[in-house]
Amino acid sequence: MNSLVKTVNPSTGEALENYPALDHSGLDAALQSTADAQKHWKTTDIAYRAQLLRKAGAILRDEVDTHAGLIATEMGKPVTEARAEVLKCALTCDYYADHAEEFLAPKPVKTEAVTSYVAYEPLGVILAVMPWNFPYWQVIRFAAPTLTSGNGGLLKHASNVTGSALAIQDVFERAGYPKNLFQTLVLAQHSMVNEIIADKRVAAVTLTGSEGAGANVAEAAGRALKKTVLELGGSDPFVILDDVDLDAITPLAVRARFTNTGQSCLCAKRFVVDSKVIDGFEDRVGKAVAALKIGDPLDPSTQIGPLAKPSFVDDIDRQVQGSIAMGARLITGGHRLPGDGNFYAPTVLADVTPDMPVFNQETFGPVMALVKAENAEQAIELADASQYGLAASIWTSDMNRGLELGKGINSGALFVNGVVASDPRLPFGGVKLSGYGRELSIEGMHEFTNVRAVWAG
Ligand code: NDP
Repeated sequence: MNSLVKTVNPSTGEALENYPALDHSGLDAALQSTADAQKHWKTTDIAYRAQLLRKAGAILRDEVDTHAGLIATEMGKPVTEARAEVLKCALTCDYYADHAEEFLAPKPVKTEAVTSYVAYEPLGVILAVMPWNFPYWQVIRFAAPTLTSGNGGLLKHASNVTGSALAIQDVFERAGYPKNLFQTLVLAQHSMVNEIIADKRVAAVTLTGSEGAGANVAEAAGRALKKTVLELGGSDPFVILDDVDLDAITPLAVRARFTNTGQSCLCAKRFVVDSKVIDGFEDRVGKAVAALKIGDPLDPSTQIGPLAKPSFVDDIDRQVQGSIAMGARLITGGHRLPGDGNFYAPTVLADVTPDMPVFNQETFGPVMALVKAENAEQAIELADASQYGLAASIWTSDMNRGLELGKGINSGALFVNGVVASDPRLPFGGVKLSGYGRELSIEGMHEFTNVRAVWAG
């Protein structure tokens, strides 16, 4: 009998579903069927692929409540945010449906040839190892450009969101995609990922998740000489200079940190604040965070849900208590909440310094760290003092000053006076331990193409 992958409701600890996992022969058949489907798919017109993608987006939009409910139940995202996630997926399907022909059009290059150009051709079957924190978005932002450029897709999703993984496959099938072109692999252990990467039917791999998972996948892909794109953790700085309107930015700071109950690589995690305004910010943000509504993710008024897995409560509490022991000052929260769900009180810590866990590790939960800077220059130094480099935001009434100061921070994205968010029109990805390669926009679409030089004379 096949082993089972079990899902659990993080709000209650109750069992949800048991899914039969693929054994080795099932996996072999799945790889073959996607490889076969891709051989035909790569010969189809881009306009046809775009039409199917638009249909997938329309299905997601029509069924937004069903998919949002599944996300909230499997990983605990507040349902209002889950709806926004599904709608963003639909928007991204439309974006690539609108732009695929333009992005994939051969680019003429003048040489001595009669004709020479750069062509963007599919690579083959791409494996995506994906996390639970945005169970639809992480998959669609991979699949929309990657399938439309003529590749096949194999999804090894996080096991706690297996229902979402199968629902996404079902959306593609109902949109009219060839059977098995996009396929969810339900695996009993993620150790099978290495075997898939080594398989000659797989051309490349993308992973979003922890550094450990990223390093393993990159190592396995390195042995097989296959391309990887890695989107790993972040500890993004939110830099507040001395010339801001604190009342205006406090709700934005709370949103930047507590979206998805703080479980996003892109959440701002270190709030580096000029000493002239830090007291006012601390006062405002402490009150705003203490007022956040915690509870059932299926209730549309809930702002903070459970953490996705029980171990994450232990991890975040260890980081908070470790930082307090080193001198951080607790403003609000700082403890787990009673009951069977994985709830942790939204927390603000002040007097945070670079040696503390909430500064030098990724905090994947509802914890905001306030760091005092003597002036703008020191703020930028502190913001850049991280092993991560996903994104950074700077808040100031002088946009040009923000843009100039931002050059001092190493990150894949810089936002001035805006909450960092991925956007299908802009590339997304990191530097340093946050990974490499880009998703979204034209750059993301080209990652899994063979950028081919064509010369004819
Ligand atoms: P993981 O990185 O463990 O999981 C992400 C995906 O990778 C899942 O599909 C998982 O499968 C798979 N995976 C895990 N280990 C390996 C491996 N050695 N080889 C191949 N695939 C692997 O994240 P966690 O859920 O454990 O979260 C831990 C931490 O990771 C978080 O606290 C956070 O710091 C970071 N993280 C970052 C994310 C981001 O958006 N950058 C997203 C999620 C987590 P399976 O579920 O079967 O273990």
